[in-house]
Amino acid sequence: MSDKIYKNPSTIALHTGWRKDETTNSVTVPIHMTSSYQFDSTDHAANLFALGELGNIYSRIMNPTNAVLEDKVAALEGGVAALGLASGQAASAYAVQNLSTQGDNIVASSHLYGGTYNQFKNPLSDMGIEVRFVDPGDPENFSKATDEKTRAYYGEVLPNPSFEVFPIEEVANIGRPLGIPLIVDNTASPLICRPFSHGAAVSIHSTTKYIGGHGTSIGGIIVDGGNFDWEAHPERQPKLNKPDLNYDGVVWTEAVKPMGPIAYILKARTTMLRDMGAAMSPFNAFLFIQGLETLTLRMKEHSVNGLKVAQYLENHPMVQRVAYSGTAKGLAKERADKYLSGGHGGLLGFEINGGIEAGKAFINSLEMLYHVANIGDSRSLAIHPASTTHSQLNEEELLSAGVSPGYVRLSIGIEHIDDIIADIEQALEKAV
Ligand code: PLP
Repeated sequence: MSDKIYKNPSTIALHTGWRKDETTNSVTVPIHMTSSYQFDSTDHAANLFALGELGNIYSRIMNPTNAVLEDKVAALEGGVAALGLASGQAASAYAVQNLSTQGDNIVASSHLYGGTYNQFKNPLSDMGIEVRFVDPGDPENFSKATDEKTRAYYGEVLPNPSFEVFPIEEVANIGRPLGIPLIVDNTASPLICRPFSHGAAVSIHSTTKYIGGHGTSIGGIIVDGGNFDWEAHPERQPKLNKPDLNYDGVVWTEAVKPMGPIAYILKARTTMLRDMGAAMSPFNAFLFIQGLETLTLRMKEHSVNGLKVAQYLENHPMVQRVAYSGTAKGLAKERADKYLSGGHGGLLGFEINGGIEAGKAFINSLEMLYHVANIGDSRSLAIHPASTTHSQLNEEELLSAGVSPGYVRLSIGIEHIDDIIADIEQALEKAV
């Protein structure tokens, strides 16, 4: 474990959370494939279970390889601690369930990844947690949908597939005096957006995407910004301020006093992950650590290539409109300029003349870009959301999520830009 505090993302990615293995001097983080850990004594075990000290108990709840990834991502995001999970889906579910129960509600942006939208609309509502979807264009919509049972606000920073940047500070400022934290999904914009510096309290990532970067494994992570005063709002946030009968009556905001502002994430680990069990495999954590090492380089290259493709498409006679935060106009541009720095990433969408049939023909004609349900890979990828990722949404929901029938989504990779554009060009020609 390295205890140096680094400030620059490229150094943090390589050096935070790890120096070498103390017994072997191994520089690379070992993959700790162990289910459990030998306790030093019964007192040691009892102390760990009682949270008297933090340490390894069982790999469903914590693992040393995962801990290195968690330290690195927390530091990159500017938060205090993180929790690795089996998928991005587990991260969004636990992030919300950690604060809410039957009869409660959250207010969420309608501009969400289709899988998150389904999770909120169906399983969470079946569990009695109502999700009120609002158009994030006007932040006041969050205020209007709030009542005394609202436990959190939720948005996607660079929402897939509309790519209109979420008004982080505006919505966080509405919630903070009421004791309502803003949770954001920062999957599409790691490093180029730092949500905590704009007032978000919690961020999540699907590490499957840019953090992994190589399309090898599924994972998710929740990061606690450590910047939200849970204790000031005992009625609004009972899960963190009232005795938790699920953990021997502990009051989380009290229990963490000697450890720092980690009430939210410690509860997520020791109740949500312990009880629901969507643990990240240490092998996947190892792969995500490898991905992180080049994340700064890749995000720069994705951003340079993404902008070039957006500009190319904007000037193409076959293209009706392009959705890319780097070429946005008006309010969308103002928000992109305010919240993103160092680039706009590799995700964009466009609508071809000829609607749904032309969109499908374009996808079917691609030779180098992969046609897959993924984003954030080093390779360039394409998909038609209305028939795949967003296929379970009805027409009205599709429109409110920013998906029109002929819309094509691209995740631009780090290949040479000439080869990317050549493939898009020949596919557009065949789609006429
Ligand atoms: N959030 C966003 C923005 C996503 O794009 C995805 C998956 O595509 C998820 C969350 C879910 O992540 P996972 O597929 O790792 O469960």
